[in-house]
Amino acid sequence: MSVMTSTFSTLALAPELIRNLDSLGYTQMTPIQAASLPIILEQRDLIAQAKTGSGKTAAFGIGILAKLNPSYFAIQALVICPTRELADQVSNEIRRLARFAENIKVLTLCGGTPMRPQMASLEHGAHIVVGTPGRLLDHIGRGSIKLSTVQTLVLDEADRMVDMGFYEDIVGIVAACSPRRQTLLFSATYPDNIRKASEQFLREPAEIKVESQH
Ligand code: ADP
Ligand code: MG
Repeated sequence: MSVMTSTFSTLALAPELIRNLDSLGYTQMTPIQAASLPIILEQRDLIAQAKTGSGKTAAFGIGILAKLNPSYFAIQALVICPTRELADQVSNEIRRLARFAENIKVLTLCGGTPMRPQMASLEHGAHIVVGTPGRLLDHIGRGSIKLSTVQTLVLDEADRMVDMGFYEDIVGIVAACSPRRQTLLFSATYPDNIRKASEQFLREPAEIKVESQH
């Protein structure tokens, strides 16, 4: 794999999205972004293995935003994260990446916060949902979330989610998503149970592994 860095402007992205990346100080892609974004933008499923701090959030965040239709107010992307802290970080990063458009709504759904306000937020709607497995499954069980419109499903820190015992919850969440979605699996390691997850959730995925830090 090439170790050359390249700029976001080499990708087929909307100019206003590139300008916003510039304003965030993102000009060069990190190695995981350079390796994954061409694949993600081709709408292929992907397993990406890279260390913490390598810029994975922007990789899938840009992928989500590149195909999001802001005028279609339905949940078009779902990101599943192992913890509330990570879900909050991912939501905040996607909101920053989404600043080029006025009206992209990102909703965070995690445990440890009251259910009722979340249900009210879901009734108002969102384009992108970021959440933890238990709470997402809870909403699915209550019928308060509709995931059949999901075009992009991201399993972030998949190895951690499996280690924390979330595998069966994820099975239930994935089953509620559109079968025609694109699925992106990000993991710091690639043990056997992640291979099993990828076979169950992804379709002919590309596999990339980036060793270097950015
Ligand atoms: P990971 O999920 O791989 O652990 P993050 O997505 O949290 O990593 O990104 C780590 C840091 O790198 C964040 O502070 C983010 O703002 C920054 N970052 C991501 N992409 C770029 C980029 N292309 N240029 C500069 N900084 C970036
Ligand atoms: Mg991350």
